[in-house]
Amino acid sequence: MIDRGYYEEFGGAYLPEILISTFEELIEKFQEAKKDPGFWGAYLDIMSTYSCRPTPITFAENLTSHFGGARIYIKREDLNHTGAHKANNVMGQGLLVKRMGKTRVIAETGAGQHGMATATMAARMGFKCTIYMGEVDVQRQRPNVFWMERLGAEVVPVTDGTRILKDAINEAFRDWVTNMDTTHYVLGTACGPHPFPEMVSYFQSIIGKEAREQILATEGKLPDRVYACVGGGSNAMGIFQGFMDDKTELVGVEAGGRGLDTGQHASRLSSEDASVGVAQGYKTYFLQDSDGQMNETHSVAAGLDYVGVSPILAHLKETGRVRFEAATDTEVVDALSLTIKKEGLIPALESAHAFVQAFKEAPAMAKEDIVLINQSGRGDKDIFTVADAFDDPTWQAFIREKAEEYNA
Ligand SMILES: *Cc1c(COP(=O)(O)O)cnc(C)c1O
Repeated sequence: MIDRGYYEEFGGAYLPEILISTFEELIEKFQEAKKDPGFWGAYLDIMSTYSCRPTPITFAENLTSHFGGARIYIKREDLNHTGAHKANNVMGQGLLVKRMGKTRVIAETGAGQHGMATATMAARMGFKCTIYMGEVDVQRQRPNVFWMERLGAEVVPVTDGTRILKDAINEAFRDWVTNMDTTHYVLGTACGPHPFPEMVSYFQSIIGKEAREQILATEGKLPDRVYACVGGGSNAMGIFQGFMDDKTELVGVEAGGRGLDTGQHASRLSSEDASVGVAQGYKTYFLQDSDGQMNETHSVAAGLDYVGVSPILAHLKETGRVRFEAATDTEVVDALSLTIKKEGLIPALESAHAFVQAFKEAPAMAKEDIVLINQSGRGDKDIFTVADAFDDPTWQAFIREKAEEYNA
């Protein structure tokens, strides 16, 4: 076990003996890179020329007058290449892979968003790429699989266990153990063994750094509250870090699914259903039964549907620095619908969770108060899932017609 990367009782690195030297190397190279100003410079350079950074903040004028309370601002991570904040993490890790002299990357993916981002980075940086994906998810997320394959990645359907994300993670670790010398495992969120929670948060901190400067330049003061959705916790950690030492209240919004009282949700920090345990190499709150078997989770947003959560956020819950709330599927579709109509913005279903909570609170706040919502990604690229969430009959008829064309 590596005796670092603890946030009080959370985090750590619970690793098989064989992976310890690889993690030691990763920790060392990451620490070196952090101390080298040229590294962050190279990161800013690639993010500004390849992924539209700095992403702007948008004043949501129409939503603000609709609710009649706090002034609502939106940080536009949806404008990143590949449509979400995930680009910040994969491009950063890609630069680190070059520094380590490795030639191949692997990743796990559930909904396919992190797989897409990783395959894109690998194409651009010239790495071989293998993506592990549960067989069930391969079937559910065909459009993302299509793009990953076009980008040159090998997509391996995992047939173990329940054939979803957690099984893909196990398979990716198995690959890594066999190919440590050439291969880096690009973990997708601020979870997993040390140094991943710290490293992923470090690359995502660009969101909060920019947002803090932008809101100060626009409003001359800091936001009163910042909202972010929480899957593994990387976009939330990204924006929260910009305001950690300020008076700004930080609010993380988890997937309330069909309701916290139904058991069909993915709320680890905002419900009483999760407990502390060790799995997948780190210690945090997991949705698990009393034998440590992971529960099935549910959310309309595939990217929030995860049994664990960042150990850093688990710690920030215990210290009270971050407040956690849950948004249900129905609330999410309503908030998404309103945002599209009022602002012409199409947040991802994941991001819409943060909008739900901001919309609940903004009306009761003073007119001079400011709230900032992180729009972690865009929804228009996920038309299959978004159209399903809206339950649109015309769309369903279109899909049936397409299917008949193929059958003919
Ligand atoms: C993957 C994803 C998330 C959830 O991941 P975090 O690590 O919690 O940020 C949220 N929003 C979008 C758009 C995503 O693609």
